[in-house]
Amino acid sequence: MRKLIRSRREYKCNSCKSPIRKGDLYYKKSVTVGSPSNITIDNSTGYPAMVQHGYTFVDKICERCN
Ligand SMILES: [Zn+2]
Repeated sequence: MRKLIRSRREYKCNSCKSPIRKGDLYYKKSVTVGSPSNITIDNSTGYPAMVQHGYTFVDKICERCN
């Protein structure tokens, strides 16, 4: 279930690229790329580093595109 949020600043719709103005309503849609929960240790540089195989970001979708 997407949540309708009132915009507190200007955004751009990730779907139709039209502006979402301050005070307009928009939806948040989280998008997961890869698998963020899959974390491995990379030791190739001599220092162990955690490598996360994915990330999550939030798309902003205007009311019309929903
Ligand atoms: Zn849109």
